[in-house]
Amino acid sequence: MTDWIFPPASLPSLPVVGQDRRFPVRRILCVGQNYAAHAREMGADPDRAPPFFFAKPGDALVSDGADPVYPGETKDLHHEVELVCAIGPNGGIAGWAVGCDLTRRDLQAAAKANGRPWDASKGFDQSAPCGPLTLGSLPDPQGKIALSVNGVVRQSSRLSDMIWSPDEILVEAGKLWALMPGDLIFTGTPEGVGPLVPGDRAEATVDGLSPLIFTVQPRVGS
Ligand code: MN
Repeated sequence: MTDWIFPPASLPSLPVVGQDRRFPVRRILCVGQNYAAHAREMGADPDRAPPFFFAKPGDALVSDGADPVYPGETKDLHHEVELVCAIGPNGGIAGWAVGCDLTRRDLQAAAKANGRPWDASKGFDQSAPCGPLTLGSLPDPQGKIALSVNGVVRQSSRLSDMIWSPDEILVEAGKLWALMPGDLIFTGTPEGVGPLVPGDRAEATVDGLSPLIFTVQPRVGS
């Protein structure tokens, strides 16, 4: 048994719908601009862009109905509802969840303008709220993916509007990383991204999956 100099951090994990067992999370990869209308709203050409990826650390996960805290160093925190696929023990997609790729949009814009990395705009603490995992095959491709804030619909699209399907994303990601059981892939957001402020209640849904619901908490001391 390893003799640690301090106790290791607990493993991030997701609850599994209908089971007492949990899904251990290893790391989080995210696809950029995977819906044409969102690519356009971000100023990109969806017809030419190959899928590109960025990452969040596994411990950015917010699960089990916990509420994320509004991060520091931003005045423009954005929601991005996304279908999440989870890599299982056989290396394929074992399950699905609804996630929210929280983004410091102002820092991301500055990073883009200066050719700098996205880590601080995408991979910050508590930047990956995620609902419970549903094991099984892909939800209905014609199903709806949506996010509302305080009961007002902000994002509403169909999974079929994705440019790259989850299986294609897996192939592309697998060229760049050795995907391992426990990896989560956020598959991109449809159009309608927008700001969240402390106190906002977000409800993110994908037809057939357990919803993700959270309220943005104010920062202590702010
Ligand atoms: Mn995203």
